[in-house]
Parts: sequence; C-alpha cells; structure tokens
Amino acid sequence: MEASPLTINIQNSIEVPPLKNDPFILEGTPFTTSFDNTEIAFRYKSDSELRKAYILFSSIQSNLLVKIGPSLVNWALKVGVPIRPLLKYYFFDQFCGGETLEACLPKIETLKNYNVKTILDYGVESLKTEQGYNQCAEEIIKTITFASSHKNIPFVAMKITGIGGTETLEKISSGKASEYDKLQFQKIKDRLVRICEVAKQLQQPIFIDAEESWIQPAIDSLCEEMMFNYNTQQPLIFTTIQMYRNDRWQYLHYLKEKAAQQKIFIGIKLVRGAYIEKENKRASQLGYPTPLYISKKNVDLAFNNAAHLLIKNIDSIAFCAGTHNEESCLLLATYAQKAGIPFDHPHLSFSQLYGMSDQITFNLAEKGFNVAKYIPFGPLDAVLPYLFRRAQENTSIAGQTSKELILLEKEIRRRKKAALISK
Ligand SMILES: Cc1cc2nc3c(=O)[nH]c(=O)nc-3n(C[C@H](O)[C@H](O)[C@H](O)COP(=O)(O)OP(=O)(O)OC[C@H]3O[C@@H](n4cnc5c(N)ncnc54)[C@H](O)[C@@H]3O)c2cc1C
Repeated sequence: MEASPLTINIQNSIEVPPLKNDPFILEGTPFTTSFDNTEIAFRYKSDSELRKAYILFSSIQSNLLVKIGPSLVNWALKVGVPIRPLLKYYFFDQFCGGETLEACLPKIETLKNYNVKTILDYGVESLKTEQGYNQCAEEIIKTITFASSHKNIPFVAMKITGIGGTETLEKISSGKASEYDKLQFQKIKDRLVRICEVAKQLQQPIFIDAEESWIQPAIDSLCEEMMFNYNTQQPLIFTTIQMYRNDRWQYLHYLKEKAAQQKIFIGIKLVRGAYIEKENKRASQLGYPTPLYISKKNVDLAFNNAAHLLIKNIDSIAFCAGTHNEESCLLLATYAQKAGIPFDHPHLSFSQLYGMSDQITFNLAEKGFNVAKYIPFGPLDAVLPYLFRRAQENTSIAGQTSKELILLEKEIRRRKKAALISK
C-alpha cells in the first residue's frame, strides 16, 4: 500500500538511552559562559559590517523572499540584471570566504586574531560528469595543499558527491549494483584515495560530509576504509555522523569497537543532520519508516549523548561538534571540564558555519577551546546553491534568524552607547 504524502512511519524509531545516573555527568563543576556577550562575539566585525549583517538577516526573515529568492536571482542573472555586486556585498561576503583560496586569506587572518581557526570547503557543486568529478578532486587537493601551508586551517571539508555520481552511490548503498556501477564506484574510490594520499603526505586532516541516508551506506564504507588505512598514526580522515538518524547511536558504538580492534584513530564530525525534509518526504513517498527521530527532543538527546560518549573515548576518537546549538555546546564543554580534559585537547573541537552563531564561536574560543569557522569558497555563481541553502536553513531552523538579529541589534546599540560615553 502506498503511503500518503508526508505521513511519517515511525516503527523504526529507537529510544535514545538517557544518561541520568552517570557519575561522570553528576559530579564536578559545570562549564559556564555567556553566549550573550556580543562584544566578544562581534569584535571581529566593523560597524558597517555589523549593519550589513543586520540588513541581510532582516531580509531573510521573510519566508516568501527566501522561497522565491533563488528563482528570482537565477532569472535576473539569466536576463543580465546587474545584481552580482549586490549579491556579493550582502550575501556572499556574509557566508563565504572568497572566490579563490587566496581571496579567503584576509578572513582567515582576521579570525586568527581572535583564536578562531578556519575549515575550508570548496563550495562549488561539481558538474555531474567524469571531467567534473576529476576537476573537483583536483580543487580539493589544491585546498589541502593550501591549508597545509597555513597554520590556522586545521581541516579541509569535502563531499563524496563532488567526486562521484549520486546514482552510483545509491546503487552501491542498496546492494543492487551492476558491474557498471561497481566500476563507477571504484573510480570514486580512486579519486578519494588520491585525495587521502595528499592529505597523508601533507599531514592535513580532512572532513568527509554526511549526505542523504540512501547514499550514506556507500559513503560510510568509503570513510571506514579510508580511516582504517590512513588513521593509524593520527586522526587524519574524519567521517560525519548525523545524530537525527535513529541508527547512528549503534553505528557510533560499532566504530568505537572497530577502532579498538584495529588500533586506529576514529575521526568524527558530529552533527544533527541537514536533510530532514528530504528524508521524511522520500520515506513517506516510498512507504518505508523514516530513518530519523521524530521529535527534536530525541535528536537533542542523541546528539548530547553522542558527545558524552566521544568525550569518554577521546584518546582513540577525535571529534568536532558541528553545531549552532548553544545548549549542546555548553554540555560538551561541561563534559570536557568534568573529565579534566584540556579545552585545547587536539582531539576536541567545535565548528560553526561562517556568518552564523558568532556568539558561540568567539565566546568558546575566548575560553580556550579549539573552534573553527566552516568557510566555503568558490566563484560567486557557482556557490549560489550553497548560499540559497544558508538562507533557507536560517528561516527553517526555529528562531535562528531572530536570534542572529537580536544579537546584532544588541551589539549595534552597545557600540552606540559606548561611543556616546567616550565622547
Ligand atoms: C560545521 C558544520 C558542519 C556540518 N556538516 C554537515 C554534514 O556533513 N552533513 C549534514 O547533514 N549536516 C551538516 N551540518 C548541518 C547540521 O547537520 C544541522 O543541520 C545544523 O547545524 C543545525 O543543527 P544544530 O545542531 O546547529 O542545532 P539545532 O538548531 O538545535 O537543530 C536543528 C536540527 O535539528 C534536527 N531536527 C529538528 N527537528 C527535528 C525533527 N522533528 N526530527 C528530526 N530532526 C530534527 C535537524 O537536524 C535540524 O537541522 C553541519 C553543520 C555545521 C555547523
């Protein structure tokens, strides 16, 4: 029987184990900081940059504008309306590093002044051809080489769908791959091995993004193979775990055990997950149980428990919490403090996207944690899909835009008052 649209089948949803009585959680002093300190959060921005960010977040508060924006922008670019300077000034500058690697340097340097590091992400969606995939692999290798010669870039991020076709990954994931699919998959692996070899040679760690659940088994198998081959001396290859998925708690344990058996380091970027609507829509259309937790509460519990598990295994697992959730960041900092783990432990870091949640990034960096901004770069037209997703994410995540606006407004007012007093 076919499921009706957007009816979510929950039979697979697994409860997340609560951590209630773990002495590790109960004992010791909790970490405290104020994420409301806007002076620290925005001290890297000039007055005009602050106002610019305020105008941008005010405009993406409108759901309608965010919905019609991408078609409107694509249409304007197609018929030659000169909107590029406007897009670059307001949008691109807020969320991206620059159009080339070198153009990212001023932002990287500014962040460095405040103890904030950079994660470089080649933000261009590759052409879905062999040539496109090879080109993307070359760009990733260039980024790794660039990053390795700059001390403040601890990681380079990449997507497997940049170097290979979604159809191939889907076929491999479903276990119904033909000989042709297997050959195509081998090409993806060859590109990834080339990338990992350069990463190994230059000692430059890389993050591999997590994507949709129907292609993730193939991505997981690649990540595992690379971790087993390249993480023998140090955590060089990082996989990404999306804790909105109800099978990832078990998967974390599986990875932890593998690490112990094979005496390797596991590298993990821990996130909640970015494809909630796509995941639920596909599950409902094809009539299978959603692979996600149904409630945000369970996702939060799963994410926080995972952070706890990783902190407890920090000797063999290096991880980066990619999150804009203040509570999760405070909890993770508390776990680190209670376990007596130095805030700048090389296996522990936090990351937020460039242009978002500066109150978390700069306040945690001020306390001595390893924190990095995720900075995409690439030619303006080519990173537009990334920019549209940022706008959509800011409107769809409850309270994200209003939170940014409140903080920006607070800092603008604070600076005005400080200027008046000093006169
Ligand atoms: C540095 C960095 C790297 C990232 N890399 C990846 C990546 O490789 N792959 C990827 O998929 N995402 C990635 N993301 C995005 C991430 O997964 C989240 O979508 C985003 O950060 C918002 O979640 P949050 O933890 O910041 O917090 P919050 O704003 O507290 O949580 C919002 C998230 O909760 C989850 N959620 C909310 N309601 C529900 C519900 N009813 N059911 C199920 N889930 C729900 C969704 O994941 C949603 O995005 C990355 C984010 C960052 C900051």
